[in-house]
Amino acid sequence: MSSAPLLTDRLGRPLRNLRISVTDRCNMRCRYCMPEADYVWLPRQSILTFEEIGRLAGIFTGLGVTKLRLTGGEPLLRHDLPTLVSLLAGNSALHDLALTTNGILLQRHALALRAAGLRRVTVSLDTLRPDRMLEFARSARHGDVLRGIESALGAGFDSVKLNTVVIAGYNDDEITDLLEFGRRQGVEVRFIEYMDVGGATGWSPAQVVSQGQILQAVERRYGPVTARHEGSWAPAERFALRDGTVFGVIASTTAPFCRTCDRARLTADGTWLLCLYGEQGLDLRELLRIGADDAEIAARLTAGWKARTDRGAEQRATLAERGVLHQIETLRADPRREMHTRGG
Ligand code: SF4
Repeated sequence: MSSAPLLTDRLGRPLRNLRISVTDRCNMRCRYCMPEADYVWLPRQSILTFEEIGRLAGIFTGLGVTKLRLTGGEPLLRHDLPTLVSLLAGNSALHDLALTTNGILLQRHALALRAAGLRRVTVSLDTLRPDRMLEFARSARHGDVLRGIESALGAGFDSVKLNTVVIAGYNDDEITDLLEFGRRQGVEVRFIEYMDVGGATGWSPAQVVSQGQILQAVERRYGPVTARHEGSWAPAERFALRDGTVFGVIASTTAPFCRTCDRARLTADGTWLLCLYGEQGLDLRELLRIGADDAEIAARLTAGWKARTDRGAEQRATLAERGVLHQIETLRADPRREMHTRGG
């Protein structure tokens, strides 16, 4: 357990959770994240090495971070990821090491990731229909995702969860089918409201299926659900069906939870972001590569977090006219604005 004194921001939120993007590349093109034909990628030489990620993780856990989540793009595209996992898992200050993946390559890597020390896996599964995945995410590998989920369930992780981004007119008619799939597999499904984050160039309020609508769809099929008030800082609100099946809703768009946000992000090229909607970040790669020592970097992180006031989703929710966050030209100008470089 980390013995570091709690580092809190201006709103009293502790720094406990770090999402680390290990690549900006992806082998899917989900419409809510990468709807465009072409992208500007981060230069390969700018991508943090495993040693650099390991060093930064050590500095962050020294400041009180106890949970790491590996993300992307698609993290399993990063070569030899189990080596990074075992490097991070050796950090005794950590009590959680998780991964978010689209599942396409999971069957190949599940056992090695578990053996390396990965604790939890979240797989993105937005539809049970291969034809829809082809149309929506330009991928014909739906079967691989299902096999990936199966392999993860057999690999002995502490938990396997499913994330589903619900979009009106696309998969909102599959909410209860996905919940039923999760129930059969014994995995918890979290339904995520469509967010107007960087990269979601096709976003509009009309496509958002709210938490309320998701719960109505569930209750139409399963009867009344019970809210589980757990006082957790995790983004999902959790609910239970009458048979005890638990599912979650992440209502970032209609009921944002910035007040309990203890999360920071690291892009694959080492930019530290205080918020998913944050415009600017701190270039940690630069500090590492100019020879700054751990104390200097820790001091910059401490000052940055203490000054944090970010509440991006809450501020977006107050806008009278809410539209796309960044137009394509703005995203091209700085690819770090893209969700797939920030790790969602
Ligand atoms: S919008 Fe920013 S502050 Fe709000 S929950 Fe997301 S990352 Fe945290």
